[in-house]
Amino acid sequence: MIRKTLTMAATLLALALPAAPALADPLAKDVFGAQVAATRGQPLALGGYSRGCASGSVQLPETGPTWQAMRLSRHRNWGHPQLVDFLVGLSQQATRFGWPGIYVGDMSQPLGGPMLSGHASHQMGLDADIWMLPPSSLRLSPRQRENLSSQSVVARGGTAPSPLWSAAHHQLLRAAASDPRVARVFVDPVAKVVMCQSERGNRAYLRKIRPIDGHDYHFHVRLACTNQGCEDQAAPPPGDGCAEAAQWIRNRIDPPPAPPPNPDYRHPRSYRLSEMPRACQALVAR
Ligand SMILES: [Zn+2]
Repeated sequence: MIRKTLTMAATLLALALPAAPALADPLAKDVFGAQVAATRGQPLALGGYSRGCASGSVQLPETGPTWQAMRLSRHRNWGHPQLVDFLVGLSQQATRFGWPGIYVGDMSQPLGGPMLSGHASHQMGLDADIWMLPPSSLRLSPRQRENLSSQSVVARGGTAPSPLWSAAHHQLLRAAASDPRVARVFVDPVAKVVMCQSERGNRAYLRKIRPIDGHDYHFHVRLACTNQGCEDQAAPPPGDGCAEAAQWIRNRIDPPPAPPPNPDYRHPRSYRLSEMPRACQALVAR
């Protein structure tokens, strides 16, 4: 009898409560952030780098002879097979520059999409972060990979390289940007300016090295789209971009007036599932 009354009370309570809108149209980050496995089939990058998803992704093996994926608990070592192939190749090249390999930071989630923390992009399985810290060991335990932190190649103040910066960083960034599959490499302007100043060979790759804040502990590689339904970013402006990077550093010393904030900007963490491309909604509705 008591149980029956309680059940009835619960039913009445449920009827009295309006349906939570968040459940009807959840945040895309919650849906994509909960995925722990990829879909099978043809690898496809769908949508855009900052509003998209991925099917047919593969996992970068957590440990290889020349790499380790970091922060395994995040399930972000997934991407397009070309991205995995690129990272393995870059890690092998790193050994020619005097590093034992590379530490690979975030790639994408198993189905891509917005993430619960960090990144606006990394949503289509075509973006990867590579740590600036040369590996001290490629036999780190999962726990060590949660706790170890990278280090900055930029000195405090943001106008000069830190002692960590080395010729190997230049070689690694050059190798990444010279890969024809790569559309852009994002790195702190200090790193770019050092490369601009010391490059004695072909400078064409410098166009792909794009200065950006928040990329001194790692650099970010973005592959170009290879399938329909994947929206490429506009090509970088012509030229090596060295003057713009130098200006960026001058602006750190003597900041110009800040432009008014864009009232329409929303971080992808705020996107509802209904705001994602249809193909991405279909991917999680399976
Ligand atoms: Zn990144």
